Amino acid sequence: MELTLSNRVKALKPSPTLQMDAKAKALKAEGVDIINLSAGEPDFDTPLHIKEAAKKAIDKGYTRYTAVGGIIELKEAIIDRLKRDYALDYSLTEVMVSTGGKQALYNAAQAILNPNDEVIIFAPYWVSYPPIVELAGARPIIIETVSEDNFSIDINMLRSAINDRTKAIIINSPSNPTGTIYDEAAIKQVAEIAIEHNLYIITDDIYDLIRFDGKGPYNAPSLVSEAKRLTIVVNGVSKTYAMTGWRIGYMAGPENVIKACTKIQSQSTSNPNSIAQYAALEALRGPDEFISEMREEFKLRCKTFVNGLMEIGGIKCPMPQGAFYCFPDISGLFGRKTPDGKTIVDSLSLSEYLLEKAQVASIPGIAFGNDNYIRFSFAASLSVLKEGLNRIEKVIKKLL
Ligand SMILES: *Cc1c(COP(=O)(O)O)cnc(C)c1O
Repeated sequence: MELTLSNRVKALKPSPTLQMDAKAKALKAEGVDIINLSAGEPDFDTPLHIKEAAKKAIDKGYTRYTAVGGIIELKEAIIDRLKRDYALDYSLTEVMVSTGGKQALYNAAQAILNPNDEVIIFAPYWVSYPPIVELAGARPIIIETVSEDNFSIDINMLRSAINDRTKAIIINSPSNPTGTIYDEAAIKQVAEIAIEHNLYIITDDIYDLIRFDGKGPYNAPSLVSEAKRLTIVVNGVSKTYAMTGWRIGYMAGPENVIKACTKIQSQSTSNPNSIAQYAALEALRGPDEFISEMREEFKLRCKTFVNGLMEIGGIKCPMPQGAFYCFPDISGLFGRKTPDGKTIVDSLSLSEYLLEKAQVASIPGIAFGNDNYIRFSFAASLSVLKEGLNRIEKVIKKLL
């Protein structure tokens, strides 16, 4: 008899993004010229001074285990960054370093959630939030937001979703996949509701420095100081410093939560990679003109691409305010027929059509909890994005 797998992993849904990714890769392997607008990471290279710091760390022999929650110098740099950008004060016992922001989120879920607890997540959401909640035995409660309202939070819907089982609210601003930045009033209201009902706020600030208005970031505790005692701040160097492969993220929050997360990390992965920690230290402490250069480039790409999309017809796309994605509403194309007789019925069928006929890879919105949209990323040069637009326009115009 075949040995069985755990119920936990059997209940885990396979990522719907993988299907598209596999198809794109297969076509590429066949030699097809694919324009890949599906990537969830910057196309820029990690800045040189950061790579040099990693080489130096190797030469200096920083190749052993570090403290589970990260080296003190890096924790101090994180504390300074949160002070500089948010005017938030954290001590060494209130921050920890993990293997990416993703592990920080995973640790947090394992540390605060019990079976049947509920966690409020706004859709469209980052693909990993629901599974991370479910792996902790808890239930994601999804609140829809729509492009007509620029994906803003409906506070009444939030209030009515809260009950005795609610344990936490996850906020991601600027958002992946929509590029939306929640305004200060909305974040304040969420913070006040969390205080009123004694809920954790998990604020995923991973895109906080990729804001097109160039303004400084804010989050729940920076706007409502009382919210600090129930907020878990998650951030990292992956997106801001083009360091996705280095796997360094961090979190800041109440001491007991950080202690619990450190315990979980100590029994699972131990310290994040020692060399990458020194690279992240240089990222946070070293010159940072790179960030504004990258931000300006994303802003230009975003404007060009989204304006181009809007001109095609049948597609509506709010202008993103940050991050490097756009999330157009493609439901206006539903019911239309492709030249070879298929019907566009959902986000997957449109994504597949774009991949097969335009050789442009996107991610169907269903992966982010809404089937009326697809996600394009701007992790490609302006000229590649323009070529992508031309191709998309051509095949969308063929839909009858
Ligand atoms: C990329 C991303 C993360 C974390 O990425 P890591 O590489 O694990 O640091 C977290 N949240 C969102 C919304 C992201 O897009």
